[in-house]
Amino acid sequence: MTVRVGVIGVGMIGQDHIRRLTHVLSGARVVAVTDVDLDRAKTVADDLPGSRLHQTGQELIAADDVDAIVVSSWGPTHEEYVLAGIAAGKQVFCEKPLATTREACERILDAEVAAGRRLVMVGFMRRYDAQYRAMKETVTSGDIGAPLLMHAAHRNPSVPPSFTSDMTINDSTVHDIDVARWMFDDEIAGITILKPRVNSNAAEGFNDPLMVLLEMTSGVLVDVEASVNAAYGYDIRGEVVGESGTVELSESAGAIVKRAGQHSGRVPGDWRERFVRAFDIELQAWIDAVTAGTTTGPSAWDGYAATVCTDAGLEALRTGQRVPVKMRERPDLYKAQ
Ligand code: NAP
Repeated sequence: MTVRVGVIGVGMIGQDHIRRLTHVLSGARVVAVTDVDLDRAKTVADDLPGSRLHQTGQELIAADDVDAIVVSSWGPTHEEYVLAGIAAGKQVFCEKPLATTREACERILDAEVAAGRRLVMVGFMRRYDAQYRAMKETVTSGDIGAPLLMHAAHRNPSVPPSFTSDMTINDSTVHDIDVARWMFDDEIAGITILKPRVNSNAAEGFNDPLMVLLEMTSGVLVDVEASVNAAYGYDIRGEVVGESGTVELSESAGAIVKRAGQHSGRVPGDWRERFVRAFDIELQAWIDAVTAGTTTGPSAWDGYAATVCTDAGLEALRTGQRVPVKMRERPDLYKAQ
């Protein structure tokens, strides 16, 4: 079976997902595209033999020849399309965020629970990164004893002028939040954010870097240095400290060169380079699950938790206080993940 995929939102990542669905992965074909920018969608459809342009996301979701949907439009539009996908009984791969407000995420949880089965996977691709997977395997195996701490850093070389301090939390650190929940199979109980000395490369009034402290309910503490003007490259770091050992992400890209008394290696230029394989593996896992008639990966619950945590993070950033994370009770549908 070939899964016939419709893609809503063909900006940067939408086009990248179309490329991987068409040229890299197996078992799927993009048959439909749409975007609020119809000219852009038409250009994409024209370049994609066998695909059809739809005037709206709703029309695409309803199309009989679309089996499953990729939502890669702007975040505030996700709720509408995810809800329509669930109503149509179609599998949805939704780029993060699941939705931009707690209430919108809760409407999606309610709809999926009412449908009685999972239909939504959220695009937290770090869970598919080989290094993070190796780290989680080590933590879960007990080889380093009970985990106590995690040190993480999320460094972007630079960001466009439209990028705000809030986006450091809900666009960048949201990935570290999801990693922490997944790494320790646990929820986040509270968030504190400190503002160190400001990087002079940051735009006027922009607090960069930030130090984000996540408290897991188990007591594990996760500190995340979130920098978006790190200049030298895109650098993702992580180390879990256990009772009897540590596990660390290794240097991410390429080979180490030793010459003339020095050693050096490449630092990725951006997130696409660093996580290119993770995106491939993530979307292949989704296609394989759709083909098998099941749902896999980060769930709507994970998307909800991420949005609730980033909201708490934004409050912590505004107030300088520790903000507790309060979530609704986890529905049974999401208990055996
Ligand atoms: P982008 O380049 O701005 O693309 C978004 C596209 O959606 C644009 O073509 C936009 O059109 C279109 N759009 C806006 N409103 C729409 C609507 N109502 N219906 C259909 N299309 C609509 O953004 P992007 O960087 O690709 O990001 C898209 C999503 O992917 C975001 O949620 C982002 O957070 C997520 N993302 C995730 C990762 C990751 O690491 N997993 C990485 C990058 C992006 P206009 O340009 O005309 O508004």
